[in-house]
Amino acid sequence: MSSGKKIFLANFWRRVKTTVVSLAILQSVTTLSVSAQTDTESVVTISYTELLANVKENRVQKIDLESNGLAAEAVLKDGGRRVRVDLIARDGNTELMKALRENGVDTAVKAPQQPTLIWQLVSTFFVPMLLIFILLMVLRRLSNAPGGPGQTLSFGKTKARFSPEAKTGIMFEDVAGIDTAKEELQEVVTFLKQPDRFTAVGAKIPKGVLLIGPPGTGKTLLAKAIAGEAGVPFFSLSGSEFVEMFVGVGASRVRDLFQKAKDNAPCIIFIDEIDAVGRQRGSGIGGGNDEREQTLNQMLTEMDGFQGNSGVIVVAATNRPDVLDSALLRPGRFDRQITVDYPDYKGRQEILKVHARNKKLEENVSLESVARLTPGFAGADLANLLNEAAILAARRYKEAIGELEIADAIDRITIGLTMKPMLDSSKKRLVAYHEVGHALVMTLLKNASLLDKITIVPRSGGIGGFAKGVPDEEYGLESRSQILDTITMMLGGRAAEEVVFGDAEITTGASGDFQQVARLTRLMVTQFGMSDLGLGALESESGEVFLGRNMMPQNDYSVKLGDRIDRQIRQIAQNCYYTAKRLIEENRDLCDRLVDILLDVETLDGEEFRKIVAEYTKIPEKKTASVKF
Ligand code: ADP
Ligand code: ZN
Repeated sequence: MSSGKKIFLANFWRRVKTTVVSLAILQSVTTLSVSAQTDTESVVTISYTELLANVKENRVQKIDLESNGLAAEAVLKDGGRRVRVDLIARDGNTELMKALRENGVDTAVKAPQQPTLIWQLVSTFFVPMLLIFILLMVLRRLSNAPGGPGQTLSFGKTKARFSPEAKTGIMFEDVAGIDTAKEELQEVVTFLKQPDRFTAVGAKIPKGVLLIGPPGTGKTLLAKAIAGEAGVPFFSLSGSEFVEMFVGVGASRVRDLFQKAKDNAPCIIFIDEIDAVGRQRGSGIGGGNDEREQTLNQMLTEMDGFQGNSGVIVVAATNRPDVLDSALLRPGRFDRQITVDYPDYKGRQEILKVHARNKKLEENVSLESVARLTPGFAGADLANLLNEAAILAARRYKEAIGELEIADAIDRITIGLTMKPMLDSSKKRLVAYHEVGHALVMTLLKNASLLDKITIVPRSGGIGGFAKGVPDEEYGLESRSQILDTITMMLGGRAAEEVVFGDAEITTGASGDFQQVARLTRLMVTQFGMSDLGLGALESESGEVFLGRNMMPQNDYSVKLGDRIDRQIRQIAQNCYYTAKRLIEENRDLCDRLVDILLDVETLDGEEFRKIVAEYTKIPEKKTASVKF
């Protein structure tokens, strides 16, 4: 059970309990009033003992016993005063009966006294009605409780979080490394600040801006910065929040949100993950999703409904523009699309500077080399990197973040947490040979990357060790020989296992390597036109079926060609594997020496590794620039 649900149930029970209590009070109030009613007939209630004494002293003229034996009404001889007595029927009131008989009191039995008609009506109708009323109140209160299932009752009433952030406090200077996007958005800020300048010359103000880019690249940050720069309120919610369990709620949420935004104009509405609502209608497995379509339609209607310049600008973010419904992208809707991509070297440097502002770095740490070592990192990863490094520095009782902490934080983010070193065992030896295989092949091939580090300290996620190269900024434009050497390097681990331990002893340790090899070889044949099958793309990387469009696999080739593709792929991998094996076999002594050293020190950096290799053989000159860290 989720904690939210638990809290809801606890509240519910508390309320039910208070209801029970208030009902009990009400009922005792009514019974009290009933006895008060009887009292007004000036009948004095006396005690049993008193009555018994009266009977025994022969002062009772007449007595009416109620048939249930619980009460009696007596008429006293002096002045015909009426008294009432509550009896206990347990013993059949034998003593009283005996005394009555002995004194010859006129005794009659009658039905128990009934409350008057009004009170009967009250207790039969009024109390149940009160009960219903109270239940209704409780339900209403529940329905207003935040997080309760009351949304069913209040039909998509705005949640409190729809209230805007008045000041995001984020400025453009906090967003770094994505300057083109910033420039384009500068215009939107001006729209919000001085709308008259644009309307005066008849320019239409944009209604929607779509930010396209992978997660963590700063889309949310950008949207907040627009609001911050223009000094307008910022409404935000995510697409998946729109799509709710209950039919109709999604659409009314949208209506609500836009209404609130219009009341607060000028302002920014930010919708994260818009693909969750704005996906191509009627697509995906099992056809469309009614609820989502209603929500989307409502959003389109709202955006169309903006009169001229309402001052509301919708900023949406997605990393899947390909699955968006084309209706969303039409003019007058999200007609402005801005790509926010992974930052390049320069961009990473800028982002690191922003996040290093509030951190203490040792003087010799250069953000330029950190930027060089982190291609493919998004802004969020870089922020995380510096934070991890700061945590490591604190844990090591250091005053400032040093190079070592940054290097460790990079490994931690890209590969995994460090685990305890392995005990000396045959397994450790095998891992050492596997990694030396990778590292040696990498070092001996001209077009593979430059070795950065080799280690046999295990990492979380079942990683026994790793050998990694210095990342190359020029990724994305790789030559055939670079790809082939990379594949050979990836197969170096298994090659070493086989050469050293024999065919029967090879392990599952290479499965990750094979997956990467399979992907690369397939790309070479089917997309890069780098095989005997010639030029041309035979496949495009297939999108996930569940995410809209792309229901059909995009293979436009015959079974026969498919066969040839498979053979080509195997051929490439085979050739690379032979190369790797040959390199290991030719350098067996070197391999053994490297493994002995690695078993001893557990981690070697590229420089140290190359020094040992150079004692045995010539290392080819690399094209990749070396980064000294
Ligand atoms: P997205 O919305 O694209 O998934 P966010 O805007 O939520 O990414 O980014 C998450 C965090 O990462 C930000 O709060 C910020 O700390 C950091 N970040 C991301 N991109 C940048 C950037 N370009 N400049 C500075 N910080 C960034
Ligand atoms: Zn491997």
